[in-house]
Amino acid sequence: MLNLILFGPPGSGKGTQAAKLIEKYGLLHISTGDLFRYEIENGTPLGLKAEEFMSKGELVPDEITVGMLKNKVNDNPEVNGIIFDGFPRTLAQAEALDRFLAEKCLSITALIALDVPDEEIVQRILSRGETSGRSDDNDESIIRNRIFVYNEETAPIYNYYAESGKSIMIEGVGSVDVIFNRLTATIESVC
Ligand code: AMP
Repeated sequence: MLNLILFGPPGSGKGTQAAKLIEKYGLLHISTGDLFRYEIENGTPLGLKAEEFMSKGELVPDEITVGMLKNKVNDNPEVNGIIFDGFPRTLAQAEALDRFLAEKCLSITALIALDVPDEEIVQRILSRGETSGRSDDNDESIIRNRIFVYNEETAPIYNYYAESGKSIMIEGVGSVDVIFNRLTATIESVC
């Protein structure tokens, strides 16, 4: 199984690239942000809880996020592999993911990080906000908080997987196709 973490700050293009990668490699795409937005749209208790944090650009607590992630993986036992998008976002989530996969005799193949400068990120998210309908994409102070949280809590996951030689950084600035080609070349070098 090819289990990839598509890593990078909010607005780095993970969702766009994941959609293209699943088509090419026949993988399951799990975006915890999309799963939370689905719960919010349906007004579930989980969605109501998640919205408290998402609306401020903060992380949803680990126990809620990890439980939801495990359910999604367990609901799809027949897949060729998984692209994790927006998960893990804390070291505790990364450790929980590794333990959960190990129980199934599985592991992360690679973490591929998209490198995009902070100022480019802010501009990309603001322009996505014009059409995405996401309230957390429209307010610059919320966007800056998401980037702050990424740098504080999420970025260290790169080094965590680097310890086992699994982290790879690629340039995340360029056209969608150019970045896709960089990603597929990287994936083909690890599988
Ligand atoms: P995203 O669509 O990945 O940008 O996620 C949108 C928001 O959902 C984030 O700003 C967080 O509030 C929440 N979220 C998504 N994934 C996670 C995660 N793995 N852990 C905690 N919160 C998350």
